[in-house]
Amino acid sequence: MQLTVAQYVEYIQKVAEAIGKEGDYITSLDAATGDGDHWLNINIGYQKLVEKAEELATERTFQSMFMRLAKLAMSAMGGTSGALYGSAYIASAKLLGETPVMNEKMLADMLDCWVKTIMDRGNTRPGYKTMVDTLYPASRKYSDAIESGMDSLKALEVLKQASWDGANSTKEMEAIRGRASNQTGKGVGHIDPGAVTMAMQLECLAEYITSNCI
Ligand code: ADP
Ligand code: MG
Repeated sequence: MQLTVAQYVEYIQKVAEAIGKEGDYITSLDAATGDGDHWLNINIGYQKLVEKAEELATERTFQSMFMRLAKLAMSAMGGTSGALYGSAYIASAKLLGETPVMNEKMLADMLDCWVKTIMDRGNTRPGYKTMVDTLYPASRKYSDAIESGMDSLKALEVLKQASWDGANSTKEMEAIRGRASNQTGKGVGHIDPGAVTMAMQLECLAEYITSNCI
């Protein structure tokens, strides 16, 4: 697998398209468990990234591109998600450094870095009904798949499946973080919107790499 900086920017554009289409669904999830703005926040953020895609793609290393992306996400996205995604990208920029191309191991390390950063910044653990419930199992299962020597395409299937299983698992959880934790029912019976948008991003990533980078 070889994922270049320019390809990552192309992947970001695919996510923007996918998220752009799901406004009603994501908004209904956040209306049930939060304040209804999650789709607006994330969609505005991704639209900004699409607007700046050409500039982002001129960056030569993941470090410089992710730093730029993080600043755009933090300023445009708003909400808890904007801050958390921004921090995750800053941390992974440092992790990847001067590399212009990511391989499987680097991708696994990047996801692990996102989980650690988001859990730390959001004071969250798996089981608290947040985006971490998608990212944590997806990252763990992908890393295990790569370490066990699984075929690259199969490992990406594992990543995608684990992401959606994780997102769906939030339905029955009582929220310990996020706005749903202040509700009487703690969001039980509703899937967490941030867990769904995280799964959409990881699904796009797995599909993009499958079609373009193996
Ligand atoms: P806000 O909650 O500020 O309105 P958004 O609506 O953009 O922000 O995002 C809500 C999503 O953010 C939730 O669905 C959840 O997945 C995620 N989230 C909220 N709080 C935390 C936290 N402390 N740690 C990790 N993720 C969180
Ligand atoms: Mg919200």
